[in-house]
Amino acid sequence: MSASRIVAASDAAITEAARLLRAGKLVAFPTETVYGLGADAGNDEAIAALYRAKGRPAHNPLIVHVATLAEAEALAEFDDAARLLARTFWPGSLTLVLRKRAGARIAAAVTAGLDTVALRIPDHPVALALLRATGRPLAAPSANPSGRVSPTRAEHVAAGLADRVLDGGPSRVGIESTVVALDGGARLLRPGGIAAADIERALGRALATGADAARPQSPGQLASHYAPRARVRMNAISVSAKEGVLNFGANALRGAKTAISLSERGDLGEAAANLYAALRTLDDAGVETIAVVPIPEEGLGAAINDRLRRASARPS
Ligand code: AMP
Ligand code: MG
Repeated sequence: MSASRIVAASDAAITEAARLLRAGKLVAFPTETVYGLGADAGNDEAIAALYRAKGRPAHNPLIVHVATLAEAEALAEFDDAARLLARTFWPGSLTLVLRKRAGARIAAAVTAGLDTVALRIPDHPVALALLRATGRPLAAPSANPSGRVSPTRAEHVAAGLADRVLDGGPSRVGIESTVVALDGGARLLRPGGIAAADIERALGRALATGADAARPQSPGQLASHYAPRARVRMNAISVSAKEGVLNFGANALRGAKTAISLSERGDLGEAAANLYAALRTLDDAGVETIAVVPIPEEGLGAAINDRLRRASARPS
């Protein structure tokens, strides 16, 4: 694959990127969550190239991005609950896993052969313009090698991963979408950019959590994921001089080689937006261990702690 070319996401660049996508190429583009590595969801070869580029295991299904609810309904069966959540949170950082419609033009590899499909309308003007210009649903996992830290800026997209990178500035949310399965019941598969409590309030009932052994695992549930090079140590209450530290709020630890505050004012949304860039900065500083102070488990803290737990698990 040719080296990635980062271009500002002008109208002309979006038109050209759409042409590349229709020709089966891979285009990295900004969304409000993280940068996605996009491919035409109906093109078997493009999807195969996408899995290859990321080194993503074939059993990890991809999220399909669309521009409108009508396009989503052409691909999956929406019941009242699905329509309610889509109307409430789309465009936005919620992915719905729904029963795939018979005859939906989605490459089998996108859903890893499942009879369900994961769908989302991203809340980003460049992503939406690209979807409209392409005129096709786009499968778009995070634009990083599988298992590593997700990109929240165009320059974080690894060279060679995409045929083109559209630069739309930093991702506002900074953490992947919340994934909810509505294939009978309502189940939280992955905490993310929209707090589970907000979804439960809209739905009027609690989301089930935890793995369901009868159903395939979500890759967001892989034990080791989102991993920087450095070791990650959570709930740190002290820090050694050689470590890097991620602080949050007023109770900052001092004395580390490098310290970054995810949010000095203790705002979990700000912390989520800064998380991946901060992990990269500490990796670049060459620290062996990243100590992270306790982060509250409420709101977006659940998603931050989920990513940090997986980042701290070593690959088996
Ligand atoms: P990523 O693209 O890496 O942000 O991850 C996509 C997330 O969506 C993972 O947690 C997947 O397991 C989940 N996902 C995608 N499609 C499905 C599906 N059909 N069933 C269950 N989970 C899915
Ligand atoms: Mg990812």
